[in-house]
Amino acid sequence: MHVSEKVELSQSDCIECMDIRCPVHGSVKTRGSEMEGIVVSSKARKTVIVERPYTVYLSKYERSLRKRSRIAAHNPECMNAVMGDAVVIAETRRLSKTKSFAVTKVIKKEIE
Ligand SMILES: [Zn+2]
Repeated sequence: MHVSEKVELSQSDCIECMDIRCPVHGSVKTRGSEMEGIVVSSKARKTVIVERPYTVYLSKYERSLRKRSRIAAHNPECMNAVMGDAVVIAETRRLSKTKSFAVTKVIKKEIE
């Protein structure tokens, strides 16, 4: 076996990230629910806040109420989701006090 090969890590989608909490390259498995949302905050390191709008129907008033939920999700280096991106998040084991979701797919915001 030759170990002389040196791989340039220039392209972001070719990075084999070293994050053990990455659902693609790490040891964390996804299970259960999967949902789409928009990244509203990417201030924290390796964490994004994903917002998801939903409606609740109130039968008493015969109207629906618009609500939104915010979910903290793990954002590994290979995903690199930033504010404004649409992402798909999947349930994982509890990764920290507030995180039990990880980003599995990123649809980058179109630059206008
Ligand atoms: Zn990864």
